Amino acid sequence: MSTRPSLAEDDTRGKAYDARLIRRLLPFVRPYSRWLALALGLLVALAGVQVLQPWLVKLAIDEHISIKQPGGLGSLALLFMAALIAEFGLRFAQMLVLERAGQGVIHDLRSAAFAHLQRLPAAFFDRNPVGRLTTHLTSDVESLNEAFTSGLVLILADLVKLIGIAVVLFVMDVRLALTALAVLPPMLLLSFLLRARMRHAYREIRALISRLNGSLQENLVGMRVVQMFGREAAQREEFESINEAHKRAELRGVRFESLFSAIAELMSSVTLAALVWAGGEQYLAGAVTFGTLVAFFEYAGKFFAPLQELSQRYTVMQTAMVAAERIFRLLDTPQAPDAAASAGTGMLPKETRGEIVFDRVTFAYDETKPVLHDVSFRIAPGERIAVVGWTGAGKSTLIRLLVRLYEPTEGHVRLDGVDVRAMPVEQLRRRIGVVLQDNYLFAGSIGSNITLGDPRLDADAMRRAAEAVGADTFIARFEQGYDEPVAERGSNLSVGEKQLLCFARALAFNPPVLVLDEATASVDPATEARLTATVERVMQGRTAIVIAHRLATIQNADRVLVLHRGRLVESGTHAELLMLPNGLYRALHQLQFGSARQA
Ligand code: ADP
Repeated sequence: MSTRPSLAEDDTRGKAYDARLIRRLLPFVRPYSRWLALALGLLVALAGVQVLQPWLVKLAIDEHISIKQPGGLGSLALLFMAALIAEFGLRFAQMLVLERAGQGVIHDLRSAAFAHLQRLPAAFFDRNPVGRLTTHLTSDVESLNEAFTSGLVLILADLVKLIGIAVVLFVMDVRLALTALAVLPPMLLLSFLLRARMRHAYREIRALISRLNGSLQENLVGMRVVQMFGREAAQREEFESINEAHKRAELRGVRFESLFSAIAELMSSVTLAALVWAGGEQYLAGAVTFGTLVAFFEYAGKFFAPLQELSQRYTVMQTAMVAAERIFRLLDTPQAPDAAASAGTGMLPKETRGEIVFDRVTFAYDETKPVLHDVSFRIAPGERIAVVGWTGAGKSTLIRLLVRLYEPTEGHVRLDGVDVRAMPVEQLRRRIGVVLQDNYLFAGSIGSNITLGDPRLDADAMRRAAEAVGADTFIARFEQGYDEPVAERGSNLSVGEKQLLCFARALAFNPPVLVLDEATASVDPATEARLTATVERVMQGRTAIVIAHRLATIQNADRVLVLHRGRLVESGTHAELLMLPNGLYRALHQLQFGSARQA
């Protein structure tokens, strides 16, 4: 594997507030700043009516009940009702508004991340399993949303409320206020101590979740292989070990959180007891009114709720920061260099004839071990080339460099005299039709699998491509024809039909160059014959490069390139290469086709 860093390395800081990350989030938040401001306004109003309620109770007791003065008690009760209704309305509105902002932000962030992913070089996807990337775009983005809906803004609102309550307490009675707040310093100290532990646990949980997703994805995609090779038990064990580690990390996190909230609960009871004692004495001594005493109890209750939630909010923020870190790391991954912006159309070949040149190309996937060494060749327009070599010789790599999924470490790949790096990728890929063994079909219709939704390809172009490869006959048999839905990964199509669809897709733009990776998997003879005929037909008039496994393909080629351990070792026609004494092709041919199969 690569020595380059991947998103996998979770060097997450675990801060609950990381100014650098918040700053980076700003561009995403700005479009929704009005909603956030509104939410904050609503929250302050909410804090206001909450602080008001105990005060009304105090008034009712001191000015009416204690002194047996019923006049005005009714309107106080009404006012109290109004405060309750206002609290309900404000809470509802505040949640809606916050969600509106939060969902907006994560929608934009997710779109940005998706668009970014689409432009990342193929090498990136070698290093980052799909499951992990899925986590970034789903649960990581989701945790960021929580930073808005139950994190940052609520912390601010809680602070406003706490300060409001503290002020009222001091206004009512300084001594009792000090008693009520005495519990604050130990609470803060405790949360500070537990915080470090929690941070560690949560970081571990995040990392394990993405490993869980990665393993799950791998197993689901490879389920058939797992079943065919009877690997269920081994895979289950592997999954189980990650799952178990995740459970343990979660439990560790929960332990600290429970400890914190239990202690907070205890502290609040202790405070109430202290208030009963100190407040009772004060009341009996006539220093405070009974209403004040009741209000103190009420306020103390309201004071502790946000304190208890603080640890939860803290966790939310921490998770969100970890998530943000990972999303930004993804967004910071350099995209595949695309010359589209800088090169302009001046760099495009004047005419596309389909001449391909590899000029001293050396390439390594991971910088250390080159898989292609100093490979040079020229393919003339219209020439038909077969590439042969042992598995791992570098044949597929050659193709990947041609279509610029990867770029040469040294040397140049040219199409019609222009370095493929200087060509907008989209232009390059319109000129080279590729059919790989891995016939990937997308969810959608048969037609959309040919055009891949490209607006430049109308229904006519789609039909022409299908007809050119003879796919139209089987498509016509479907009830909905081109609109027939393709099941996930094309499970409602036969191997041959899938292959034909991929041929049609490769030909949709009528490219001057065609690249084929000949299937090694055997299909039935009838299908094989049909595919061979199709291949013959579609190669007419195009430059063709075929990673060849069939003798017929090799014999029909104008030239055969023989790759061995990443080097181009022989080149010539089938007949010429067979003549080379001690030639690699000769050996390969003997082994692969033997004399018996040489019909
Ligand atoms: P062939 O198509 O001739 O079987 P490839 O071009 O697929 O060979 O592979 C050439 C070498 O490059 C092999 O040793 C293979 O292990 C290595 N290789 C192929 N793809 C990757 C990749 N994505 N990352 C790292 N190494 C790779």
